Amino acid sequence: MSPPALRVLQVAAEAAPLLKTGGLADVMGALPAALRGQGADVRLLLPGFASVLDSLSFSTDVTTVTPPWGGSSRLMAGRFDALGGIEAYVIRDDAMFQRAGGPYADARGQPWADNHRRFALLSLAALRVSTGGDVGWQPQVAHGHDWHAGLMPSYLHHDAHARRAGVRSVFTVHNLAYQGLFDADAFSDLGLLPGAWGIDGVEFHGKVSFMKAALRDADAVTTVSPRYAQEVLGADQGAGLQGVLAARADGVHGILNGVDASVWNPATDVHLAKTFSADRMAGKRDCKAALQRAVGLDVDAEALLFGVVSRLTEQKGLHLVQALVPDMLARGGQLVVLGSGDASMEQAFAAMAQAHPGRIAFRIGFDEPLAHRIYAGIDVVMVPSRFEPCGLTQLYGLAYGALPLVHRVGGLADTVVDASLENLQDGSATGFVFHEFSLDAAQHALRRAFALRDRPVWWRCVRATAMQRRFGWDVAAREYMALYRRLLRVNFDA
Ligand code: ADP
Repeated sequence: MSPPALRVLQVAAEAAPLLKTGGLADVMGALPAALRGQGADVRLLLPGFASVLDSLSFSTDVTTVTPPWGGSSRLMAGRFDALGGIEAYVIRDDAMFQRAGGPYADARGQPWADNHRRFALLSLAALRVSTGGDVGWQPQVAHGHDWHAGLMPSYLHHDAHARRAGVRSVFTVHNLAYQGLFDADAFSDLGLLPGAWGIDGVEFHGKVSFMKAALRDADAVTTVSPRYAQEVLGADQGAGLQGVLAARADGVHGILNGVDASVWNPATDVHLAKTFSADRMAGKRDCKAALQRAVGLDVDAEALLFGVVSRLTEQKGLHLVQALVPDMLARGGQLVVLGSGDASMEQAFAAMAQAHPGRIAFRIGFDEPLAHRIYAGIDVVMVPSRFEPCGLTQLYGLAYGALPLVHRVGGLADTVVDASLENLQDGSATGFVFHEFSLDAAQHALRRAFALRDRPVWWRCVRATAMQRRFGWDVAAREYMALYRRLLRVNFDA
């Protein structure tokens, strides 16, 4: 008889396709099903945003959660058919989660003033599920993602019932730069013991830090690439928390994200003008022409077409892309940018597109189908991030035959191999990698892209290698399962 399935609760703020603002959603859209594929009994807990509730089928009320600041919220159970039928919990509180604007900020981009309560509620719901809130199911491992679920490990750590039940907590850092920092007076809302305040608790330079709470109290901390797991231990990338991370006896585990091939596969992608694959590349030419037409670029098969699909933030290093534009254009290239965020960056890309009609196109906003068409139509995807925990856009570029041009940092360094002569010779090259974060270094990578383009046989070889690289979620899921099993063997109270 096979052993009973390991019960895992996944806790996050977003999951594609229900709700997406970035890579976290892609991960949460794929990881639960991948873990199920490894034999786990997985449930996913999300906040009750409108699009999440709309996607919950067979919903029933399980219990209520009563937060320290008063009132009562409904814990619902059901199933997300859009996520392969994953069993789910949703913490429903319409006053908290059903608001005009974004999940984290209002329509003007101002973070919601009660974000500490909104996301403490998510963690309180996880605690409730973990401590008998649902008589039919209780996790052995509760796995939270990013600061939105940051208090969950602390609630579990300090809860006698959870400790008796031996529930283990895992916390994954998708981006250490977003920490969930709140004014000190938020602390009294959170229901933590007074001893949790202070340098040995959730306090971070006089503020409450949800991220720090998780890094201290989780039974295991992971991040989304091996290289980033190393980088966060240093001052440069540790965002002030490197000491907290270094103090963890078990370190930080780096588990690389995967690509969900049911969503990101040029052979089956419903958004594309034509599908294609490594051994049937004709469709990519049609995708390029269709993209050029759709965004108002000159339809030109020969122009090397560069693309960016990104949040427009300082992290993404896009000022380098802007600085590369004159060189790119002088060499006959084109550029398409899809993104939104920083107002000055939006203005700069808009001005460039206006100054170079037919050569540069800028689409502002968040547009999932267009993102797919861009990866399929472009020749080079640009990801020159200052730092990058994993990065999914370069992985999508690889899968769609758009060679990534990247800064050698974090997950970008782990997943892209530079088209240097020696890497071309041994057949490992998949893109263009620059080491130093400087315009000069990026410019050399750009020149390598044009040089490779002028050797079409080589280009096709590199592209085929890129498209054949597999970043399967099954690999990541196996690593998470091994970690969960290890944790369940450890007696933390001994
Ligand atoms: P991050 O999570 O830091 O934003 P990732 O590379 O991990 O970066 O993931 C970004 C995800 O968001 C990818 O799926 C990418 O295609 C998507 N994305 C980013 N900006 C946009 C946009 N403007 N429109 C559509 N998708 C976008």
